[in-house]
Amino acid sequence: MKFVSYLAGEACYVAPQPLLQSETPPTAISKLPDFETPPLNPNYEFSKQLQQFLNGRKLLLQEISAPIEEIHEHYQNGFVSYHKGIVEKDGTYFCKRCGNNKRHLFASHHCSRCDEECVYCRHCITMGKVSQCSPLLSWTGPAIQYEKRSRCLQWQGTLSGGQQVASEKIVTAVRESDQIVLTSGGTTLPASKMEQLSLKQQFHNIFTSVKELITPPSHSVSEESPLFSKSKSKLLIWAV
Ligand SMILES: [Zn+2]
Ligand SMILES: [Zn+2]
Repeated sequence: MKFVSYLAGEACYVAPQPLLQSETPPTAISKLPDFETPPLNPNYEFSKQLQQFLNGRKLLLQEISAPIEEIHEHYQNGFVSYHKGIVEKDGTYFCKRCGNNKRHLFASHHCSRCDEECVYCRHCITMGKVSQCSPLLSWTGPAIQYEKRSRCLQWQGTLSGGQQVASEKIVTAVRESDQIVLTSGGTTLPASKMEQLSLKQQFHNIFTSVKELITPPSHSVSEESPLFSKSKSKLLIWAV
């Protein structure tokens, strides 16, 4: 899809080509000048479904099922932001999804979507193709208000001495909104580490707001998410 940019007052905004005719020629969004997201319109009746889907994520247009008209209306009201997928600075490309800036991990081809030579990121291509003409979208409206749950931990068991120590450190990190890195000897996060994350009795008091657990590689997340969901069956868990 091609985009156009336009000025409104001092600000520069963008729009998908089918939705706005502009004097400037439409092109890949990454090739447009820098643009902004319009200010939030508090009176706009936003889509809860879109909020739920986009909140805390950065997705490609093709990953969102909502029609472009609806997405763009949310942008116009400040609830959704477009981001350039690939940014070029001083001859160096940056992927805004995975952070790749290694030249050999980018490629280009004549693209059928933008009808131009189009650079894309090879580093994160298994998650869907980020290219110069594929914007990333994020939610900039109000965050989802999750209901507070108590005693969501379902697991019964005991931890070993080492697990207990690690568990205490995790609990402290979560409580103090600090960061903690868990490492394991293997390539995947083994069940024992997952137990440390999920089994500490105090956890039900700590997870009162949305928390993220990030672990590479992605297949570990997919493999371990059933365990996590089982031990916290009352929580809504997304594994992406
Ligand atoms: Zn990438
Ligand atoms: Zn393209």
